[in-house]
Amino acid sequence: MTHAFFGVALVMAVMVAVPPAAEAQLGQALKRAQQLRDVQMTDQEEQDLGLAVSLRIRQRYGVVQSEPVHRYVTLVGTVLAQASSRPALPWTFIVLDTDAVNAFAAPGGYVHITRGALALLRNEAELAGVLAHELVHITGKHTVGAIQKGKLVQMGADETVAGNSGLFDRLVDAATNVVLQGFGRGEEIESDEDGIALANRVGYAPQGLGAFLTRLSERNKDATEKRGLFASHPEMKERLGRLDTQIASAKMASTATLADRYTSRITYKPVAITAIAVVEGGAAGLAGGDEKAEDAKPQPPPKKGRFGGVGNLVRPGGAERQSAQATGSGAARGVDPERDAVGGSNPKPVPVRVTAAQLAEFKKAGGLP
Ligand SMILES: [Zn+2]
Repeated sequence: MTHAFFGVALVMAVMVAVPPAAEAQLGQALKRAQQLRDVQMTDQEEQDLGLAVSLRIRQRYGVVQSEPVHRYVTLVGTVLAQASSRPALPWTFIVLDTDAVNAFAAPGGYVHITRGALALLRNEAELAGVLAHELVHITGKHTVGAIQKGKLVQMGADETVAGNSGLFDRLVDAATNVVLQGFGRGEEIESDEDGIALANRVGYAPQGLGAFLTRLSERNKDATEKRGLFASHPEMKERLGRLDTQIASAKMASTATLADRYTSRITYKPVAITAIAVVEGGAAGLAGGDEKAEDAKPQPPPKKGRFGGVGNLVRPGGAERQSAQATGSGAARGVDPERDAVGGSNPKPVPVRVTAAQLAEFKKAGGLP
């Protein structure tokens, strides 16, 4: 590929609003399916949905208005995306303006990572591990799958779909809830396994994801509500053990960590979980990202037994964690700093263009094959 711009940046220009046609297209898809569990989305429909979900996430947390930071994350993400099972998606990497440590994958190629997560990461292999995990949620179409399985969008018996923008909004609500609250255990294991395999395949040390998750567990021990319980959380131990076993048994041997390159580009400082400011009212209205109060919809109760209760990546063991939260003082209101953190006010995307030549140079400079 010569002089080709990857889709990464090009789509950003039109990310401001969901085109009206998208609603009609999704309506058509739903009409064809008759029932949501049978829905088959085209790639375009999936991207329209993801764009709407991404807009809500960006409105909720704001976007870091730094081109160099977005360029760096986009370069690492694009190395992974080009080696993924869906390289042709318009992959877009967005850094959210919040101290919370989290990452969100919206359908169709929209990968979000928080400034707080970047602050906690220590090298490029860890960043690749996190991004690869999110990429697999997208290549595996986990959000649409969760909506179908959970029947999270209820269609009335006599409800017509064509031209029903209300239904489109409910679909976006449901998808946003899935993305923010996390996926099921099976999807998380798949993202862990396929993610570290992907990172290893493009040259990064596959231990990056586990190193980050371990550090995240240590950090979260400082939250008094979860002290002890989260620290010895069996599901996190099981998860880390599974990663180690996979790395050993598959003989994953890539070694690039690139700590110097990472720390020269990312200079954010981590904020203790107890010091993160949260939005009053917690998660209410998250899915209805528009500021209009009438758009704020009640959230469904957290599902028991979820592997990732909130923010797919950082919440192993949702059920246990919920009970741990409920015993805490600040947790009485159900506030979760990682999800309910204050965010920036600017949702504007930061366009980044990555050429094939720039990508090749980036890989070469890092010693990636
Ligand atoms: Zn996940």
